[in-house]
Amino acid sequence: MKPAPFKYYAPASTEEALDHLATYGAEGKILAGGQSLIPTMNFRLAQPSVLIDLNPISALAYIEPHSDGGLRIGAMTRQRAVERGALVVERAPLVQAAMPYIAHPQIRNRGTFGGSMAHADPAAELPAVAMALEARFHLRSRRGERWVAARDFFIDLFTTALEPDELLVEVAFPPTPPRSGWSFQEVARRHGDYALVGVAALVVVDDQGLCEAARLAFFSVGPGPVVTEQAAALLEGQAPTPEAIEAAAAAVTTDLNPTADIQASVAYRRQLACVLARKALTEAFSRVGNS
Ligand code: FAD
Repeated sequence: MKPAPFKYYAPASTEEALDHLATYGAEGKILAGGQSLIPTMNFRLAQPSVLIDLNPISALAYIEPHSDGGLRIGAMTRQRAVERGALVVERAPLVQAAMPYIAHPQIRNRGTFGGSMAHADPAAELPAVAMALEARFHLRSRRGERWVAARDFFIDLFTTALEPDELLVEVAFPPTPPRSGWSFQEVARRHGDYALVGVAALVVVDDQGLCEAARLAFFSVGPGPVVTEQAAALLEGQAPTPEAIEAAAAAVTTDLNPTADIQASVAYRRQLACVLARKALTEAFSRVGNS
């Protein structure tokens, strides 16, 4: 199928892109890698009357150290560049671990880091990683700029805090906490498919070796990334023994509300979430001190 007619702009700068967004608002759509937007337009599920193509704006593609010890990733950075970025491995290894699970190399060559976040597919890997690491999102418009925490950025199915005239320009990851470990787990029918269930995990222990914090952010089990509070509460202050991990993993379903589809039933997704939580927590605690 072919998309409905639209006007096309290819601004040379972020400022120019913001001008177009201010003019067209909800009529316009940002074109990043086009890997989600173009198929949606071809099926006429989306019919924007204006496309604002960010591809000429090289200033939006970067991977840089943050002065606080964290990592800054520009919205137009290709997913493949993040996957291969040495600085990503060093400063946000959980981000790098998730990248190969996103689709296929051909799609990651075009798909962008910011596009994946802005699209907010409930089965996407990166929003869950952003939740686990407590990333922050830099949004700009002609009205000003703001920073939004991951927990406030992802609102619902394919819905974020972005206003129609706003552009996501950067995602910032905080420094890796001392005495922390991470894990990324996902099950899909074939490599490159969207996950049946997946989880991004970050754990932090205190100087006695007791769990100080455990963040498990699931995807494909709700309308967006879901952080399981109950499992974290069970682990905090505990030694991360196999028994404590098993109890926490069994509790994750309290916070999950998966739906059934042709790929998996609700019961299967719940069971898978428990299994992946156990694997993720075991691996994350085993990495404390080694990462
Ligand atoms: P686009 O398609 O260009 O845009 C997507 C949406 O985000 C649009 O609404 C656009 O207006 C908006 N947008 C983009 N950038 C910005 C910005 N900077 N500011 C404001 N709004 C913006 N994804 C996964 O996570 N996991 C998978 O397993 C997976 N499998 C895939 C398999 C196939 C066959 C395909 C075609 C895609 C798959 N994807 C998967 C999606 C892929 O990762 C997309 O690249 C991604 O979702 C969107 O990124 P994009 O840069 O292509 O954005």
